[in-house]
Amino acid sequence: MKQLVILSGKGGTGKTSVTAAFAHLAARGGLTGQVILADADVDAANLELVLQPHLLEEQDFKGGKVAVIDPDSCSECGLCETVCRFDAIHCADGLYSVDPIACDGCAACVYQCPSESITMREQVAGKFYFSESRYGPLYHANLYPGHENSGKLVTLVKQRARLQALDENRELVIVDGPPGIGCPVISAVSGADLALVVAEPTVSGAHDLRRALETLQHFGVRALVTVNKADIFPAGADEIEAFCHEQGVETIGRIPFDLTVASAMVAGEAVTAFQPQAPSSIAIRRVWMRVSALLLEKA
Ligand code: SF4
Ligand code: SF4
Repeated sequence: MKQLVILSGKGGTGKTSVTAAFAHLAARGGLTGQVILADADVDAANLELVLQPHLLEEQDFKGGKVAVIDPDSCSECGLCETVCRFDAIHCADGLYSVDPIACDGCAACVYQCPSESITMREQVAGKFYFSESRYGPLYHANLYPGHENSGKLVTLVKQRARLQALDENRELVIVDGPPGIGCPVISAVSGADLALVVAEPTVSGAHDLRRALETLQHFGVRALVTVNKADIFPAGADEIEAFCHEQGVETIGRIPFDLTVASAMVAGEAVTAFQPQAPSSIAIRRVWMRVSALLLEKA
């Protein structure tokens, strides 16, 4: 079983459209019944919007604890408000309460409270889902705004996808990774056999690509790069490819800007299925051929 992760240094590069197209090309190509999909972009999961899966399972995701004050036993001494370094405890009309968004879960207030009125309670930080899409099982999740532990939720999504792939002897897990280079990206990258970075030919795109490649290098994951919307700024695409060449990173083609991608998303379809002869579909197919050849060690 192989794991492919699709990354971008930032959001909005077209990473999810490429992932959906790969899911289609894999499932309708030589990997029918062999693919498991995982949307690891838990802060803004949108692979489901393109694939329109049928939901099979939904679970609460418990992500950390927050302090809760029992108003009946509270003596209103104010000590907890003083001790909280996160400014999460406030008093209104003589009633002390905790702001669950601001609370960091450090439990300092619990130890300071003279009347043992504060307890730490697990909170629901999001939802975890398992669905069936037309291109294979899909694991996805939704972290609620203001909650942390996205790395933990990404790990859960990936673990479940990987376990099913192992149980059923499937060949490939395709992970739609989160943008950026933080904790969730590290969780998404860990254990991957290959990463495709979808870059944008802009100044910030080049900067974000550099950071993404550094992260992959650090974790010893082989990286490939494709430039999306390359014809919008060809000089920028040239620069990205030259940089990759210097770094010894293979670039595998350019994907043109194509309004068909947006139309496919609106229609809830992968662009390669929606309009196979669209310029973007042709380019993505070429990228997929190289990626799949490397993954399946036929290159
Ligand atoms: S657990 Fe820590 S952050 Fe939360 S309210 Fe208590 S002192 Fe503040
Ligand atoms: S420290 Fe305890 S008793 Fe004092 S205000 Fe806070 S919750 Fe109430």
